[in-house]
Amino acid sequence: MSPRFADGAGVDSVAAMATELRDSHGRVMRDLRVSVTDRCNFRCLYCLPETEEAANFYRTRWTGAGTTVASVPIAYEWKPRSELLSHEEIERVVRVGAGLGIDKVRVTGGEPLMRQGVEELVGRLSAVRGVRDLAMTTNGFLFGRKAKALQEAGLRRVSFSMDSLDRVNFLRMTGRDGLAEVLDGIRLARELGMTPVKVNAVVIRGMNDHEVEALVEFGRQEGLSMRFIEFMPLDASRAWQRDMVVTGAELLGRLRARWEMEPVGVPERSAETARRWRFADGRGEVGIIAPVSEPFCGHCNRLRLTADGKVRTCLFSIEEHDLRPMLRGGATDEELAGRLVEIVRGKEAGHRIGKADFVQPARTMSCIGG
Ligand code: SAM
Ligand code: SF4
Repeated sequence: MSPRFADGAGVDSVAAMATELRDSHGRVMRDLRVSVTDRCNFRCLYCLPETEEAANFYRTRWTGAGTTVASVPIAYEWKPRSELLSHEEIERVVRVGAGLGIDKVRVTGGEPLMRQGVEELVGRLSAVRGVRDLAMTTNGFLFGRKAKALQEAGLRRVSFSMDSLDRVNFLRMTGRDGLAEVLDGIRLARELGMTPVKVNAVVIRGMNDHEVEALVEFGRQEGLSMRFIEFMPLDASRAWQRDMVVTGAELLGRLRARWEMEPVGVPERSAETARRWRFADGRGEVGIIAPVSEPFCGHCNRLRLTADGKVRTCLFSIEEHDLRPMLRGGATDEELAGRLVEIVRGKEAGHRIGKADFVQPARTMSCIGG
């Protein structure tokens, strides 16, 4: 009989024998994003806004001219430590996933550098057989303190998030006066040879879209791969509105008006999310990630593991699959593998942003792991 666990999940024997994570739409999962904490030292407006005022900045800006919102701090409830997966548990899920074809792992959060002993965890993950690409996404504020140890532990690639090059606007967007530290972190990553260093910026109309060209110039000067991401409805305040999204097409139009650019070809059915453009003068490239206006769900090969042990098959999943009862309840690796196979079979065809039946997930990007 199939073993059953506290979340009611069963593992059938066919699933237990599978050797890859193939969903019912024919997509094979290769990329696992592991959120190692739901906490963060930043308070980005589009993710974890600090106050009601920050949360409503764009709501009042876009719909309610003259509306005032009190500057009341928003209290977030972080998961108690006991509910977070331990390093050993995370390593085990990654190892079992790698046995099923996962070869790319990204450590994220919340802010991954806030996780105590993250270097030790990176060391464990880099030693997992089959993981050929181990990367991290960070806001970069603490990177300077941990960079060397992370590199020694086996981290080869880092993506930074930096939405503004203007100290005041950076503070407005992230809630922290941390631009200098982030810039130092980005430069350090380059010095350490963690290339290509990618820098992601979420572009929000009226907030930082006037900085796009400056960010591109910065990337070109510093030899970084700058990537622009459309704002997605995953903010804690649920203030997202379509008007705030600067679409990939609009952005590209602006960039092409200023620079001569040519597309970087990618293999057909590549799971890459960024459309990449190379500057004709040979000075670097830029990526545009447009999940809202040009969904890439058809080629998606990603799975996500939340810090508290839930598997999500899509950023916009409404349902999560709890592995913790299995991890803490004596399940074997085969049973875990079988459960992962079953979960992946049910992966949704794509997100429903813009459709009448779209439902914003209960958890925000900081919990899901971007
Ligand atoms: N704290 C780290 C950081 O900011 O890089 C890692 C976690 S963060 C959730 C991962 C990525 O998600 C960041 O690049 C961030 O800009 C992006 N992100 C967060 N909320 C978003 C939203 N509502 N729409 C689009 N991207 C978002
Ligand atoms: Fe923190 Fe990253 Fe969310 Fe900003 S985007 S609040 S840095 S988790």
